[in-house]
Amino acid sequence: MLRENAWKKYNGEKREKINTFCEAYKHFISTCKTERECVSFVAEEIKKAGYKDLREVIAQGKELKPQDKVYVQQMGKALAMFQIGEMPLEQGMNLLGAHIDSPRLDIKQDPIYEEADLALMDTHYYGGVKKYQWVAIPLALHGVVVKKDGTSIPIVIGEEEDDPVVGISDLLIHLAQKQMEKPASKVIEGEDLNILIGSIPLEGEEKEPVKAQILKILSEKYNITEEDMTSAELEAVPAGKARDYGLDRSMIMGYGHDDRICAYPSYQAMLSLGNVKKTCVCLLVDKEEIGSVGATGMHSRFFENAVAEILNCMGEYSELKVRRALANSKMLSSDVSAAFDPNYPSVMEKKNTAYFGKGLTINKYTGSRGKSGSNDANAEYLAQIRKVFDDNEVAYQTAELGKVDEGGGGTIAYIMANYGMDVVDSGVAVQNMHAPWEVASKVDIYESYLGYCAFLREMQ
Ligand code: MN
Ligand code: MN
Repeated sequence: MLRENAWKKYNGEKREKINTFCEAYKHFISTCKTERECVSFVAEEIKKAGYKDLREVIAQGKELKPQDKVYVQQMGKALAMFQIGEMPLEQGMNLLGAHIDSPRLDIKQDPIYEEADLALMDTHYYGGVKKYQWVAIPLALHGVVVKKDGTSIPIVIGEEEDDPVVGISDLLIHLAQKQMEKPASKVIEGEDLNILIGSIPLEGEEKEPVKAQILKILSEKYNITEEDMTSAELEAVPAGKARDYGLDRSMIMGYGHDDRICAYPSYQAMLSLGNVKKTCVCLLVDKEEIGSVGATGMHSRFFENAVAEILNCMGEYSELKVRRALANSKMLSSDVSAAFDPNYPSVMEKKNTAYFGKGLTINKYTGSRGKSGSNDANAEYLAQIRKVFDDNEVAYQTAELGKVDEGGGGTIAYIMANYGMDVVDSGVAVQNMHAPWEVASKVDIYESYLGYCAFLREMQ
């Protein structure tokens, strides 16, 4: 079961292809640090490639025919794009799915307060984080503040060279004797993840003058009042761009690889397609990190609704056809896997773990404690996938997320499998998963892109 190191495929000039692709990916994750930013970015890009907003197609009463390209945005936080194939939709689709939300610190609804002449903001962490990793690093604020009249004010503070950053303090080592004895889960408590945002008192203000100064800045610069924070979605994320990692520049360190590292090659694969036989779809969803809940998570019916609308625009709608279209589909549910880490070998079973440089990772199952909560893909489907990848010389490996009973994880795969379709987990291996800065291999990103292209074109 030896898998070649995929870098061996790329000698000399061939490495340029990887670099060009990864430079564009670095720009994507450096710019898109929230689910909203991902959706706006992708929508702009795919519009240039001829994708039309399905809601406009419906409003104009237009018909859809094979090779038409449409997309649906769900509340600006999830997106589905379709290239309609020659085969009837009820014979199924080839689907790529990934999530675009990442672990971070969300700003509370009543966040700003003053203490000891300092202004701070309360947060509530989102997703699974080691809280101690989020202190004493530069943070940026990304998100939207929506005014009562419906105006949405986009916020990005901390990404430009001359922008200020914010952050959460840590206790100095000199006074940390007691703290250092605590278990890692208690070293930093969730309610103590408070972001320092200011320290100058507003002239002539008696009550909470430092907070008043911050509110003045928010009002002057962004036209935001304290009450407007009630209808805001602000996320504190690691500030700064993704960078090459390693002296040989073979890897990328960046925030939010999980799971934009699968989202990016997935939608790029859609853009690479010529005419297609089967309808091809890319799904970028929100809320995976907190259980795929809500109207923008995979449990939402927005995708199923879009399939129904598309059948209707083709003059073919029936409830039965919607069900058949979903049940006959094949999906790569893409999410990051854990890359083997020589610093922590004890949690990995060496034969069944993902390695940097060995290409796209296939996880037949995820879950924990005896595969609990996993979508365990069918052997028959895995055989089809092997054929497509081997025929197209895609480097891939199979893996589990760690040793049996070490822990585990989940993805969106099991939700789509509820329709009765074939789904398997696949994706890119990362180190430091869920840390502020995650690491991945460039060749794995590129091989994933090649794998997704082959899957869309050739999966029967
Ligand atoms: Mn993920
Ligand atoms: Mn995750």
